[in-house]
Amino acid sequence: MSTQPRVDRAEIIAVGTELTDGSKLDTNSQWLSVELAGVGIPVLFHTAVADELEAMVKLFRAAAARSDLVIVSGGLGPTLDDLTRQALADAAGVPLVRHEPSLAGIRELFESRGRVMPERKIVKAMIQEGAITIPNARGTAPGVWFEVGRDKGRLCRFVAVPGVPSELKPMFRDAVLPRLPAGGRVIRQSRIHAFGAGESAIEEKLGDVTARGRQPEVGITAHEATITLRITAVGTTAEECNRQAEETRALIRERLGDLVFGEEDEELQDVVVRRLRDRGETLAIVETPLSGGRMTEWLTAVPGIDDVFRGGLTAVSLDIGIARSQSVAAPHLEENSPARLLAEAYRTAFKATWGLAIVGSRAMDGQTGIGTIAVVGPDCVTTIPYRSFGDPAIDRSRAAKTGLDLLRRRLDRA
Ligand code: AMP
Ligand code: MG
Repeated sequence: MSTQPRVDRAEIIAVGTELTDGSKLDTNSQWLSVELAGVGIPVLFHTAVADELEAMVKLFRAAAARSDLVIVSGGLGPTLDDLTRQALADAAGVPLVRHEPSLAGIRELFESRGRVMPERKIVKAMIQEGAITIPNARGTAPGVWFEVGRDKGRLCRFVAVPGVPSELKPMFRDAVLPRLPAGGRVIRQSRIHAFGAGESAIEEKLGDVTARGRQPEVGITAHEATITLRITAVGTTAEECNRQAEETRALIRERLGDLVFGEEDEELQDVVVRRLRDRGETLAIVETPLSGGRMTEWLTAVPGIDDVFRGGLTAVSLDIGIARSQSVAAPHLEENSPARLLAEAYRTAFKATWGLAIVGSRAMDGQTGIGTIAVVGPDCVTTIPYRSFGDPAIDRSRAAKTGLDLLRRRLDRA
């Protein structure tokens, strides 16, 4: 096994036509990248490749030339489309040889089940000349650890493991991770979430914080209108990473102010529920197709919601909403802000501290819509217009988040 001290560049290759033709999602590469980052090994490439020998050989050669470590998942089964073994051997220019202990193990497994091993299974015990096997406690195909020469006397380590996640994960954790040369550094990732401005506006506010090559590096991603800043700190110790990340977090908070609502796995509903609980206050909600019940769905999934959420209504038409609210006199429909009326009505009906309503409708094209969001509290009312656009599935989330965010800001001020 290699004595080379560090892995500076790793890459991951997922093998399988089911991945490249779109019928399955490659989740192994994501999992492996997180594991590698945990031990300080950065991953620079994810590639999925079809079960085609020539394509695989070319890709393995390219990977060997550019990476210190290549993890290959999939294509180790016994069927004709399982070509990882052969492709690795071809790429390195070595023959496949029978690994007798593996063959004996596979044969034994069949015998213990009272069956005869099919001839094809022998393939699973074939490994590249010079390779070391990685035991597979949950399946019959062993993995391999295999080193090939690169330029300047360097090595590229190939690790091939089966694609079945329940086999890959324990093999990687038990037999691959412990054998990897320490990354010589620690990588720590953290996340900060913001809402209320677009990606570009946020990037502008952040200034040089998102510059490439900055340490720690800060990346921006947007998901259904939530903007996430991903901080990647690289250092020699976890403490060093944490200190760097903390400084960057403080800088981001300073530049973005109240656009920042949470960190790590926190969502807007978690923040709203926590604030309300801390204050011993309660909430009632009215929704329409603009948010489609999403505020209620998200809120009711937060642990501890029972003390906070009094109830609500998701109505398609405004008439239904008002008819159900029997504790108040029917409001005038020509009133400009039915959202405000409904927030008030339901706040009263449910004896809640706060009423929050998103009232409006979507046009027949499903793409556009218009409405109002209102937050009504003990002695305050805030209303804002809401305009929906784009994919309704995403816009429903954006509407729900806009509502929750309006309440969050109100709670922070009150
Ligand atoms: P294989 O090792 O290529 O025979 O793959 C066996 C099974 O593992 C496939 O049928 C998939 O269901 C699953 N699988 C293979 N590769 C991946 C991957 N990259 N991500 C998630 N599942 C995978
Ligand atoms: Mg396969």
